[in-house]
Amino acid sequence: MSQSSRTPVDTSPNGLMRLYGHLLLVAAGAILCLHGLIAVLAGSRDGFLPVLLGLDAVVLVLAFLLREVAQSARLKGRREAGTAGLLVTGLILVLLVAETGGAASAWFLPLLMTVTFGGLVLTGARCVLLTAVLAALHAGAVWLAPRGLLRDGFESAAAALTSGRPMGVEELTSVSTHTAFLFLAAWIAMHLSHELTRKVNALEQHAHRDPLTGLPNRRAFVEKLRREIGRADRYAWPIAVLVLDLDHFKRVNDNHGHAVGDTVLAHTAQILRDSIGPVDHLARVGGEEFAVAAVAADPNHGAELADRIVRRVRSYDWGSVHPGLSLTVSVGVAALDTSQAHREPGASLSRLLDEADKTLYRAKAEGRDRFCVAGQPEPVRT
Ligand code: GH3
Ligand code: MG
Ligand code: MG
Repeated sequence: MSQSSRTPVDTSPNGLMRLYGHLLLVAAGAILCLHGLIAVLAGSRDGFLPVLLGLDAVVLVLAFLLREVAQSARLKGRREAGTAGLLVTGLILVLLVAETGGAASAWFLPLLMTVTFGGLVLTGARCVLLTAVLAALHAGAVWLAPRGLLRDGFESAAAALTSGRPMGVEELTSVSTHTAFLFLAAWIAMHLSHELTRKVNALEQHAHRDPLTGLPNRRAFVEKLRREIGRADRYAWPIAVLVLDLDHFKRVNDNHGHAVGDTVLAHTAQILRDSIGPVDHLARVGGEEFAVAAVAADPNHGAELADRIVRRVRSYDWGSVHPGLSLTVSVGVAALDTSQAHREPGASLSRLLDEADKTLYRAKAEGRDRFCVAGQPEPVRT
């Protein structure tokens, strides 16, 4: 099979539950066949085997249901459903272990699978609890019914409870090995799941943040702006987009070096952070280009903010970055038309960014160190 045709594993909680359903289905099917073979070879005179086959079939149906539920319902965020599903499956498996030879039962492997999936889909505390409950019940079941509840009869289990049946060395060894395996499998799965989550979070951070300034990047900005446009639509509040570009920035690099250019970008990011309002969104959207989504009840907020930024960049003590350095910025402002009902958010987004960009280039053409507002003919040099 070629690399490209391989389907990636769905590692979301419901994807893993579905995978667990598949695996349990295969395991239950294999054990059903094994028990069926034993039934045929043994001539099925033993009344125990048909019961065993019936129980196998129950697990088969259960695994099928589990897979179907995981397929149709989104288990993400519904850890209760996941915990309950694994616990019920585990309890049925413990009963089957008790019924089919205790410590030597083939059903121990699906029990091991259950706690492994617990480690992948549940939080740490829940998984430890699930593993502890199932390990204790497993040990108890082996102790109460060494050859199976149906074979030994419930009386012998009750007698073991009252008399405190002593465990042989072999039984004790296998039960403690099983318990160790259950905890080990759960721990490895928990560790893997934790590591995976950590890596995914780090990658997500990486994909949305600019490392030089620590600001969100263009991708993150567009996502935030799309959300803000949706909200502005619902609540009919104004929203403005500012696109800012440092003037003649190439000269900074050419005259003072790239490192000074980088420091200027970091300082600009800080000036912008200090200028925007608490609900505004700031991002570095290109080399020396920044953007702000200004969200406010005041329709003039965008222009006021642009005015403040142009002044602050101009009057900033750039000499502290490099002797004799001075810098200015040009800004384009575009506002969302709130009077227009039922806008298409995607269209509003690209139109808004496009308008702000065009307006920025008007500010550049008019002589830089100023801002222009879309729809207003005069540039503003403050
Ligand atoms: P204008 O006023 O028309 O915007 O002129 P400009 O020189 O600012 O614009 P131009 O697009 O010609 O140059 C932008 C420069 O920004 C070119 C590029 O080398 C520089 N640049 C882009 N990203 C970075 C960066 O991360 N660090 C540094 N130091 N420079 C960068
Ligand atoms: Mg530029
Ligand atoms: Mg520039």
